[in-house]
Amino acid sequence: MARLYIVPTPIGNLDDITLRAVDVLRGVDFILAEDTRTTSFLLRHLGIEKQLYSHHKFNEHATVSMVADAIAAGRDAALVSDAGTPGISDPGFLLVRTCVEAGIEVETLPGATAAIPALVDSGFPCDRFCFEGFLPQKKGRMKQLQALADEERTMIFYESPYRVVRCLEQFAEVFGPGRQVSVSRELTKKFEQTLRGTVAEVLEHFRTTEPRGEFVLVVAGKPRQRHGAAAAADKTE
Ligand code: SAM
Repeated sequence: MARLYIVPTPIGNLDDITLRAVDVLRGVDFILAEDTRTTSFLLRHLGIEKQLYSHHKFNEHATVSMVADAIAAGRDAALVSDAGTPGISDPGFLLVRTCVEAGIEVETLPGATAAIPALVDSGFPCDRFCFEGFLPQKKGRMKQLQALADEERTMIFYESPYRVVRCLEQFAEVFGPGRQVSVSRELTKKFEQTLRGTVAEVLEHFRTTEPRGEFVLVVAGKPRQRHGAAAAADKTE
C-alpha cells in the first residue's frame, strides 16, 4: 500500500540529512515541497531527480485531497519543507490529517528540527517542555505570552531576527528580567551560537549586537512552588 512519508531536511548543515531520508526521497513517486527551488537544490546535492510539486501554506487547503487521492491510487509521496521537520511551524498538519482520515498510512522520519538542539543546548530541564513556535506578530501576542506566565515547563519559541529584541522585552515584562533564557542562533551553521543568561542580560547583548540569522529562544519554566511537607523538608535541609 502506498503511503505518505514526512521527511525532515537539514536546518543548515547539509550533512544532517539521514541515510533513510535519502533512501525515501529516492524511492517515492513524487515529492511535495514547500519551495521547489530550495528542494531542487537539496535534491541536486543528493543526486536525486524526482517529480516535484508545490505544497505550501497558500495552496495546501486546495490540494490536500488531490494528494491523498494520488496516494490512495498507489503512488508513494514524500513531504518536505524548506528546512527541518514538516508540520513543525511549517506546512504538514493539514495533509497528515487528511491522509489519516482517509486511512492512508503516514510515516514520519525522525530528523532535523531547530527546537530540540536549542532545548538541549539550553541546559534547562528537558524532561518536560512546551513548544510554542512563533508567537502571533501583533494581535494576541501578549495575551498568548501572559497565558504562559505560570508555566513551569521549559518553553521553546521560534522568532524572526527582526523581533528578537521585542520578544526579549516582552519576556522581561511577563516572566521578569531575572528569568533564565537561552538563545540559539544559526544552529548547525558556521556561526552557530548559544547565549545563556537572565532575560535582562541577553536583552542587553542583542540591544548592542544586531540579531542576525535564525533564532530559537528557550525560556526556563517558572520555579516550582513547593507546599506542605515538601516545603517543610526544604527548610530543615
Ligand atoms: N520546520 C522547522 C523545524 O523543524 O524546526 C521550522 C521552520 S520555521 C518556518 C523557521 C524557524 O525555525 C526560524 O525562524 C527559526 O526560528 C527556526 N530555525 C530554523 N532553522 C534554524 C537554525 N538553523 N537555527 C536556529 N533556528 C532555526
